[in-house]
Amino acid sequence: MRRWFLIAFVIGLALLPQLPVPEFWITQANYIGLYTLVVIGLVLLTGVAGLTSFGQAAFVGLGAYTAAYLTLTQGVSPWLTVWIGLALTFVAALILGWITLRMSGHYLPLATIAWGLSLYYLLGNVDGLGKYDGLLGVPALRFFGIELNTGRSFYYLLWAIVVLAALAASNLLDSRTGRAMRAVKGGTTLAEAMGVDTFRTKVTAFVLAALLASISGWLFAHFQRTVNPSPFGLNMGIEYLFMAVLGGVGHVWGALMGAGVVVILKDQLQVWLPRLLGGSGNYEVIVFGIVLVLVLQYARDGLWAFIEARLPRLQRRVDWADAAALPGRARAPHGEVVLDVAAVRKEFGGLVAVKDVSFQVRAGEILGLIGPNGAGKSTLFNLVTGVLPASGGAVRLRGERIDGLASREIARRGVARTFQHVKMIAGMTVLDNVALGGHLRGGCGVAAAMLRLDRAEERRLFREAEAQLRRIGMAERMHEPAGNLALGPQRLMEIARALCADPTLLLLDEPAAGLRLKEKQALADVLRQLRDEGLSILLVEHDMDLVMGLVDRIVVMEFGTRLLEGTREEVQASPAVRAAYLGTEH
Ligand code: ADP
Ligand code: MG
Repeated sequence: MRRWFLIAFVIGLALLPQLPVPEFWITQANYIGLYTLVVIGLVLLTGVAGLTSFGQAAFVGLGAYTAAYLTLTQGVSPWLTVWIGLALTFVAALILGWITLRMSGHYLPLATIAWGLSLYYLLGNVDGLGKYDGLLGVPALRFFGIELNTGRSFYYLLWAIVVLAALAASNLLDSRTGRAMRAVKGGTTLAEAMGVDTFRTKVTAFVLAALLASISGWLFAHFQRTVNPSPFGLNMGIEYLFMAVLGGVGHVWGALMGAGVVVILKDQLQVWLPRLLGGSGNYEVIVFGIVLVLVLQYARDGLWAFIEARLPRLQRRVDWADAAALPGRARAPHGEVVLDVAAVRKEFGGLVAVKDVSFQVRAGEILGLIGPNGAGKSTLFNLVTGVLPASGGAVRLRGERIDGLASREIARRGVARTFQHVKMIAGMTVLDNVALGGHLRGGCGVAAAMLRLDRAEERRLFREAEAQLRRIGMAERMHEPAGNLALGPQRLMEIARALCADPTLLLLDEPAAGLRLKEKQALADVLRQLRDEGLSILLVEHDMDLVMGLVDRIVVMEFGTRLLEGTREEVQASPAVRAAYLGTEH
């Protein structure tokens, strides 16, 4: 059905200019196309990577003015100016992104507002760019000798570019980079733990969105045949964002829908509102504001989500059964010290959450880390995995210092983890979530993904992801959205995701919480099997039956200190351990 929908859409698109429809329709369709290009960029930036930009109109302006200025004053061919515009946009977006994307929170929206305003006033004040009157008489595009000087002739070039951009964007969304972008939206901890360079990923999304806007600007200049600053101001920047939110920021189709609805609605409102309210004015802005509030209140995922919910869910075709296995990591020899935690300390202001704790984990060993709530176990995990910087001490992995390294560098060296509070991308399938764990085992980037040249690698990643899900007993649920799973299966999914990284050291933070007895037994079997394969496992768990049946040695923590380290028997016999647990949860 989806395929028919798509075919019908493309046929309708191709036929429209052939039908005896008024010229105005074609003009409107052209504007929808121009806006869709920009909004596809916002889908990547805002919907997927979770970054808000009010400054897209300025990038459109950069593309448009480059085209107009160079063709008019230097006589440069438009087929060259498009590339010059893209290059300028690339540099501008890279600089802007580089400065602002390191900062969190509201800096990016604010910076894009500042950028949008400054470019607007710059364009309006430069003599060579015609100030607020702009540049007139931009030539029409010529395509293989045909002059695209009518709405209908321009339409085909424009929409061919829109369709290509939409395809490229949806290919990107379904790729290694696409998963990384979605992971970034969920906060940096998860993404970095999977080995994703979150800063780089954000900059990539920002630059891509700017490039799409720049192409739209180039087309805009040759469609309108004149440029002036007003369509590239902050108002329009807000309107682009409005289109994205209205249509549905998570989907490429949402971009088209948002652009379409806004163009048509705006036209109708400009006709009807002055008649109803009398006089003239930009009344439609008020309606847009109200609609935006309603959409955010009642349909956060936008209009496209309504349609999508009524379409049959798309299931990934399983085509990786014969894919080559991914190369594995060299295992540490049995008994080698894999993790060496030496006098590690963590202070949160006055609170010492981890007080000079030391222990070692060897290859082929499961070390249990137990202790009452608040003992500092999760903090210790965060120190080992680089989520938090240590206040003192050293952490070594196979003899190499890893404290002070970025989370993703530690992941690259073979440390994988699960989280006490499950972290996942709820809207993505279980399979895709697990494939994210294999991020560092792939290498395809944006261009390969857009051109679909990454399929061989993707098949290998999915084969690995399915194998790890099967190992943990969840293969039959791989096509479900991860958010639909109950807590227990979500934890199992996290373990499969960690295993997908082919780790040397696996850190599990309360993996059995929320599991049923049968699931716990199955989990214990898998952990034993992993240990026998030579993996080192650090296990934080409250279920004592599970811990005692599984681990080789135990470290007991209390109030941030190491209370005891010993065998199961030693720990069970210790009065100090019993005292630590008395009055707490056991
Ligand atoms: P556990 O996992 O053993 O239950 P945690 O490591 O989560 O314990 O917490 C240890 C102590 O550190 C607790 O007192 C907790 O409140 C404190 N703590 C943990 N994370 C932070 C943080 N980011 N900021 C301040 N205090 C924290
Ligand atoms: Mg904890």
